[in-house]
Amino acid sequence: MQSQINRQVKLAAHPVGLPTHADLPLSEAPVPVPGDGQMLLRTVYLSLDPYMRGRMGQARSYATGVELGQVMVGQTVSRVVESKVDGFAPGDFVLSFAGWQDYSLSDGRGVRKLDSALAPLSTALGVLGMPGMTAYVGLLHIGELKEGDAVVVSAASGAVGGVVGQIAKLKGCRVVGVAGAPEKCAYVTDELGFDECVSHHSPTLAEDLKKACPDGIDLYFENVGGKVFEAVLPLLNDFARIPVCGRIAAYNDTAAPPGPNMVPALMGMILVRRLMFRGFIVSDHYAALQSDFLRDMGAWVREGKVKYREDIVDGLENAVDAFLGLFQGANFGKLLIRVSEDPTRQA
Ligand code: NDP
Repeated sequence: MQSQINRQVKLAAHPVGLPTHADLPLSEAPVPVPGDGQMLLRTVYLSLDPYMRGRMGQARSYATGVELGQVMVGQTVSRVVESKVDGFAPGDFVLSFAGWQDYSLSDGRGVRKLDSALAPLSTALGVLGMPGMTAYVGLLHIGELKEGDAVVVSAASGAVGGVVGQIAKLKGCRVVGVAGAPEKCAYVTDELGFDECVSHHSPTLAEDLKKACPDGIDLYFENVGGKVFEAVLPLLNDFARIPVCGRIAAYNDTAAPPGPNMVPALMGMILVRRLMFRGFIVSDHYAALQSDFLRDMGAWVREGKVKYREDIVDGLENAVDAFLGLFQGANFGKLLIRVSEDPTRQA
């Protein structure tokens, strides 16, 4: 029987530094009733992504932040419970932006039906969804990957980084990952086929990376920033390309890092080595590139050329802790919350 309660995680305060449970309390509301032209959705999977930290703050960004008192945003796989929207029927599974809650209403705009016979539903939030597309766009279109490039990618075992390295291998490149724990490094080399992986926990990170990149770096896919970026910088070759995808090491910073101002040295290096840094946001590229992405990635995943790993945590009540784990490397693969049972998935 359907629950009468809709659990929701709302933004109660803009976090200072790492978010707390007080910033993101769990509350309860009645399950909403769909009006004409609406459908009621039950969340199955909620995607937890690093970008959400930016939505909790007030700093200027590429998208508007969540207002205090509003349900946290997030992409979901949801099941249609009741529908007054043409083309959607109870039992359909859809990709939607229902946010951190059990139930939501939708008018069908921006919602796409999913077919669990084609791929597991959860992959629409990972390898076949936003993170996979980020890897595809960032590497091939922003980074202009070339066969034979020496590639380095940070957060290498994650939802984006794991796909970046595998595409680069498919395109005939040498790939070095940077990850945290030894089991993550072992995974990217042994399972995903990267050539080498170094740990950013190593006290000799800069030397380790230099040893792993004997011919320098032609393309650095930036997911992290901080000390990983500082270790990469001296190794960049002339005309190296740096798609700037994320800087997770800085997302909870409350002040500039201590130490010398590196901007003059960085500007000098950009000039002398003719470096190309380009930031990008995946949503700018959906209209032009999503169909190419789905065609190519769909085939690579089906043929086993791109593998993926999911880290599925049960229960909306565990969403805050799981989200915080992203900043400590606690997740291993694409982080998802299973908010309700996925009837299409074998136990
Ligand atoms: P992941 O699944 O890779 O999870 C985050 C990982 O980042 C952690 O597991 C951890 O891995 C690593 N990490 C966290 N803090 C640090 C730190 N201080 N130093 C080094 N590594 C750290 O996340 P995603 O793949 O979803 O996202 C990766 C990056 O891509 C993020 O920066 C995200 O913001 C960005 N992104 C950008 C998009 C765009 O449109 N530009 C779209 C989607 C994602 P480990 O244990 O290996 O340290």
